[in-house]
Amino acid sequence: MMAARTLRIGLIPGDGIGKEVIPAGRRILEALPASLKLKFEFVDLKAGFETFEQTGVALPDKTVETLKNECDGALFGAVSSPSKAVKGYSSPIVALRKRLDLYANVRPVKSVMTATNPIDMVIVRENTEDLYVKEERTYAAEDGSKIAEAIKRISEKASFRIATMAGEIALRRQKIRDSGAASIHQSPMVTITHKSNVLSQTDGLFRSTAREALANPRFASVGVEEQIVDSMVYKLFRQPETYDVIVAPNLYGDILSDGAAALVGSLGLVPSANVGEGFAIGEPCHGSAPDIMGKNIANPIATLRSVALMLEFLNEETAAAKIYAAVDGNLEEGKLLSPDLGGKATTTEVVEDILRRL
Ligand code: ATP
Ligand code: MG
Repeated sequence: MMAARTLRIGLIPGDGIGKEVIPAGRRILEALPASLKLKFEFVDLKAGFETFEQTGVALPDKTVETLKNECDGALFGAVSSPSKAVKGYSSPIVALRKRLDLYANVRPVKSVMTATNPIDMVIVRENTEDLYVKEERTYAAEDGSKIAEAIKRISEKASFRIATMAGEIALRRQKIRDSGAASIHQSPMVTITHKSNVLSQTDGLFRSTAREALANPRFASVGVEEQIVDSMVYKLFRQPETYDVIVAPNLYGDILSDGAAALVGSLGLVPSANVGEGFAIGEPCHGSAPDIMGKNIANPIATLRSVALMLEFLNEETAAAKIYAAVDGNLEEGKLLSPDLGGKATTTEVVEDILRRL
């Protein structure tokens, strides 16, 4: 008999509806069938604006150390971003990505397969460099007017590892499809996004390195194509069904993933994962949604899908597939939907419907 695997998961609810959806994430892990031979231990951890107000730090060292030394993965809810800059406060999730070297932001965007134009894609965004190195400066032109500039940095190393991850994700998605999951794609495909016609050195390096990474014989079954980012936006809105895996440098990835999320109707449906070597943090794409907090009406699906995505990166594809199927079942039946999807169900009712389907 196979021994059970125990996974230790850090739970960081953060602020606002994070406190309502992260407990739902815990519940679905606890409800996974015993036949999967998976056990979970949970560690409650702090981060966020409320933590900052209480302790003066948004991301306590203890949270980072516990994740590093004791956890296999984590779930992160949301942190509220104060409308005005607050002295000493900066986003804990950005800091966490850096301190744990979570170099990829992975965002699947999927509609129900019964939709008129079903979509099923995942955007793999590089998360450590590009314009986000935040090396900016402002200086005076000869006439005294101001000029501001920012560095766009692309490295061979970061481009290679993100493209490799995109290739691995394409293979894994195919494996999940082969095991019977409904999908619109027949074979794996990675689309490399760039603007190398203008930025021949930076985006040129991203493009050629991604090509090289994906030429590895391991990816022989994966189709590789490329697309210039502006025409990509056009096609993303006109023919989103054509995309399987999209890999992009940081800035384009940021923009494309919000655009793609808009295609499926609600922020409450879209999951993400922050991924590094051997560690993944699942995180719903939405924020802390202060307008609906405390009402038990937040859509928990973005979080439940983030749980599944985290499990994929912990090599627990079967468990992940069960969660995806239970969520799809809820959406396809359409009887117990939260208000953002036009329904009347509470967070708790949606979670319970999905747990029943597990
Ligand atoms: P933050 O500063 O934390 O990002 P925000 O005010 O920008 O907060 P978001 O969480 O980004 O709010 O959400 C944007 C809109 O989408 C809000 O109207 C919010 O109510 C809605 N929304 C976000 N997440 C969900 C969810 N899980 N379920 C239902 N509605 C949601
Ligand atoms: Mg927001």
